[in-house]
Amino acid sequence: MCTRCDNPAHLPTDESATGHTRRAVVAGSAALASTALLPSTASAQANGIPAVGYAVDALNAPLKPFSFTRRNLRADDILIDIQFAGICHSDIHTVNGDWGALAYKMVPGHEILGRVAAVGSSVSRFKVGDYAGVGCLVDSCGRCEYCRKGMEPYCEQGATFTYNSKDRYGANTQGGYANRIVVKDSFAIRISERANMAATTPLLCAGITTFSPMEHWKVEKGQKVGLVGMGGLGHVAVKLFKDRGADVTVFTTSPGKVADARRFGASEAVLWSDKAAFGRMKRQFDYILSTVPQPFDVNPFLELLTIDGTMTTVGVFAPLTPGVNGANLVQGRRALTGSWIGGIAETQAVIDHCVERGITADVEIIPITRVNEAYKRVVSKDVRYRYVIDMSTLRA
Ligand code: NAP
Ligand code: ZN
Repeated sequence: MCTRCDNPAHLPTDESATGHTRRAVVAGSAALASTALLPSTASAQANGIPAVGYAVDALNAPLKPFSFTRRNLRADDILIDIQFAGICHSDIHTVNGDWGALAYKMVPGHEILGRVAAVGSSVSRFKVGDYAGVGCLVDSCGRCEYCRKGMEPYCEQGATFTYNSKDRYGANTQGGYANRIVVKDSFAIRISERANMAATTPLLCAGITTFSPMEHWKVEKGQKVGLVGMGGLGHVAVKLFKDRGADVTVFTTSPGKVADARRFGASEAVLWSDKAAFGRMKRQFDYILSTVPQPFDVNPFLELLTIDGTMTTVGVFAPLTPGVNGANLVQGRRALTGSWIGGIAETQAVIDHCVERGITADVEIIPITRVNEAYKRVVSKDVRYRYVIDMSTLRA
């Protein structure tokens, strides 16, 4: 036990350190099988904490096993033994180089859930054995206007993302397709023991990214809303729309998803090819959310918005082609907007809300060895509806 804070979860590891808050602290619990994997505290101090995961080492190369180190715990860090990691289309955009250069080798993964295996000396929000999650962000400046408002993705100095990002000490971040992660406790999300862990994991990105714009644009009971692109994010969005009492229509390119759309709570599902339905539905929708990952023609969807209606896109980080017809905005006083993930407090809020309301993602749980096949199936819209990697298959 730590002699300075009396917290049984703290084990002092460096008696020569001058201050409690400066010491890296690694704690274990006999109750956790995973703690057997923790390195001795001495080697942790010298070399960082050994980790294994799956990484890419070149553009268009498959993910392969990779050994690396996580940083030793700072006072405000926690160590999580990862149990599940979701596969987001953003992981695929990133490894494909769609969003710029990569720092190789690079471990993707920003839907991460597991159990706390160690806590730093100043951590009070978590104790060893708690369930904890990590989403898309692991740090931000904490001082700018947007961080102070809980809008960390929009940090004026740039947020630190969970992978392929430089952290505030100059190291490259590595994501959750791995057996463990070290994260600042204020960027970790508390997960209730009551949660369905695998099916809650995708909510750490897919949940918050769809919940945040619904909150911002005040989607409410009785509104008519549309969801375009029913994949990992989209199917969660249907459930969240329905949960707040909106009347949901799904617009899909996949005939095989029509029945599922209804099961998730949509009152109607329309194929993009159904021009008659588009004609019939003009000027009806208060709000439309698109999760489509590739450039597409937004104009047919803008025409569905009522006067003052809003369409938000969270996919497509590239020029929308063909362009937006200004008449579709002007003649309906309509807005076309975007939204980026959501803040940490809001992520905690959506996770708590979903656990309370029994909202989960529909997941296909796979071993890590199937990750490359899974990437191909996500791109071909052949996943129902989120792949979640069982990280125990990495340890085996
Ligand atoms: P996903 O599981 O692949 O789902 C995307 C869905 O869009 C597909 O299931 C499909 O739905 C539709 N779609 C796919 N390709 C299409 C195409 N070429 N044309 C028309 N429709 C197409 O992806 P996801 O993980 O949900 O992510 C969706 C997008 O959001 C990605 O671009 C991702 O990078 C982005 N994202 C953004 C944020 C943010 O903060 N803004 C956060 C996370 C993810 P149907 O079969 O129903 O047509
Ligand atoms: Zn994501």
